[in-house]
Parts: sequence; structure tokens; C-alpha cells
Amino acid sequence: MSFNPQEMAKDILLRYWDGSLPVNPVTIAKKLDLNVIYGGADLELSGSFDADSHTIFINEDDSLNKQRFTIAHEIGHAVLGHGSSPRTKIRYNQANFQLKEYEANLFAAELLMPIEAINYMIKQTEIGLKEMAEVFSVSSQALEIRLKRLGYLL
Ligand SMILES: [Zn+2]
Repeated sequence: MSFNPQEMAKDILLRYWDGSLPVNPVTIAKKLDLNVIYGGADLELSGSFDADSHTIFINEDDSLNKQRFTIAHEIGHAVLGHGSSPRTKIRYNQANFQLKEYEANLFAAELLMPIEAINYMIKQTEIGLKEMAEVFSVSSQALEIRLKRLGYLL
């Protein structure tokens, strides 16, 4: 089976998100019957997902925003049927591009920065990028990637 990462994230938000920001990926993981454990992961990794035990391991040495993104990313691996996955600290560029990682990142961006919230803030408020990143509790880099993909930033 193959899933569309963004549609999957929207569906999960509809079912499990209470509408408050920032989106809490731990609450959503629990509603999906996924365990979230801090530590226990390989120290070289930001996080990993063990499909057999339905467990997401998070590196607690990362910043809180990074941890949130990693949890959302690992939820993506879980719901997109990717099986067990590590998430390395290595940035994925074209040379080591991997489809599953790309899909999990698309899922995470959609989950943590819901499209309705982005559209509302941009069209109805004067909010700046820095504040917007704070409201979503994401890195400004993650927000910029999201806004570029949506055509709001060049
Ligand atoms: Zn991954």
C-alpha cells in the first residue's frame, strides 16, 4: 500500500488534533498507540522507530524543537508503513536522498504546521517568520522549507 504523506497528516490532524498550537506530536503518537521513549536511541541518531514494539525513540540531547520534529517524522514512518527506521543526523541532500525520509519530512511538516493555521496567519495576521516559528514550535529552517513548498516564500 502506498500513502500520500500530506493527506495522511491532514487525516490524523482531523481525527486527533484538538486545534491548539503548537501541535503536540507526543499526544498524537499516543492516540495512534505508539510509545515515545526519550533516550535509548543510538546517540548518533535524532530518533528511530521500532515497528515491532511500536516505539519511537528520541534523542533527548537535541533541542526541543528538533525533538518535536523528529517525533512527528517517526510518526510518519509508522503511519506510512515504512517499517523500522533510523533517523540520522546527516542532512539528506541529493546525493543521499531517500524517498522514505523525504516522505516522513513532508508528513512531519504537515502535522506540525497545519495548512489551515499557516493560511490563516499569512492572510489574516501580520505575524513575522520568527514569531510564526515560535507559535508552531519549529525551527525557522523547518518553517521556511514549509512556506517555500506552499509558494509563500521564494
Ligand atoms: Zn526517517
